[in-house]
Amino acid sequence: MKTMRTILLSHVKRVVIKIGSGVISDSDGLDLNRIATLCEDVHKLRQRGYEVILVSSGAVAAGRADLGIVGKPHAIPLPLKQAAAAIGQSRLMRAYKDALRQHGLKAAQILLTRDDLANRRRYLNARNTLMTLLEYDVVPIINENDTVVVDEIRFGDNDNLSAMATNLVEAQLLVILSDVDGLYNSDPRHNSSAVLISEVERLTPEIEAMAGLIGTEFGTGGMTTKLKAAKRATLFGAGTAIINGRTPHNLLYLFDGHELGTYFLPARDPMAARKHWIAFTKKPKGRLMLDEGALKAVTERGKSLLPSGIHKLDGSFERGDAVRLCDADGNEFAKGVTNYTSAELNRIMGKKTREIEAILGYQYGDEIVHRDNMVIDNSKE
Ligand code: GLU
Repeated sequence: MKTMRTILLSHVKRVVIKIGSGVISDSDGLDLNRIATLCEDVHKLRQRGYEVILVSSGAVAAGRADLGIVGKPHAIPLPLKQAAAAIGQSRLMRAYKDALRQHGLKAAQILLTRDDLANRRRYLNARNTLMTLLEYDVVPIINENDTVVVDEIRFGDNDNLSAMATNLVEAQLLVILSDVDGLYNSDPRHNSSAVLISEVERLTPEIEAMAGLIGTEFGTGGMTTKLKAAKRATLFGAGTAIINGRTPHNLLYLFDGHELGTYFLPARDPMAARKHWIAFTKKPKGRLMLDEGALKAVTERGKSLLPSGIHKLDGSFERGDAVRLCDADGNEFAKGVTNYTSAELNRIMGKKTREIEAILGYQYGDEIVHRDNMVIDNSKE
């Protein structure tokens, strides 16, 4: 009998594969054999007609020995991590290029920051570049642009970045290669009776809580960030698999239909790519507190947000920034893109739409946040 995952996997054309540091490195640096084995699988997937985009960590792991850094990545101070990444990123790419070349494949490096993807024009540009690379049969290899990021514009971890990339290229599947076998109901390193969960239909708070305590050996994120990534990708409509990438050829076995790892089913009612971007990629710059009437109009009647429904705001934002929409007590229930700056809103909130022009001397439209630029509820992490 065909399981849900085999049916869904048979519809995949484009796949984002996230490769964790723990998969391709050990305490001495990059493990070239593992990279070679992975690239062999990538080649086979390409032969089977899949479009493959890689999101690979490993820059810090590849460069840290030069700086005499030992220990787990999250314990390394940011400037040192950035320096190590600057040393290691070219090594990482070189390793992929050499390994892919063995199979007649070309590789391209894409370095991104969260800021790049939060800006719609840069987002679309990155998307165009990726699509062009795929069209020309090149394997894009994405990593965070570690050298230039500060906390505010960091993805923080490549699990998150891989979910963003899945949305960016509209892939049908995200595969997270980890140094653990998948999601367990308790930590398998401490509990020998821990059971691997093979399929997750919906990521409930209980499942997330279960993962909270489970870390991985070398990676930065642990299970929590992997589940967050799975949640984001599945909401966008992509299935997500977490499998052990240290076991040779697991990637191929997954595509062959073996029931390995944990597979998260895509949401039945996926968000459009643009809404997903608003919910997850754009960082909110402020909050709009709505009165009861506006809250109902927005949540129950599918309306846009007008100035009359806003009774308070905080933050400093520009036109086009994301803002949180909250009830009168400040509890967030949605995210949206604002048509007006915070300075403008301070003058027109609580007023009727027809008064906007009289007060400001111009107007961009009646809506403060248009319905098409609003995501209800799922904006909560
Ligand atoms: N960008 C980092 C690196 O390449 C890894 C971040 C992560 O794995 O989450 O080393």
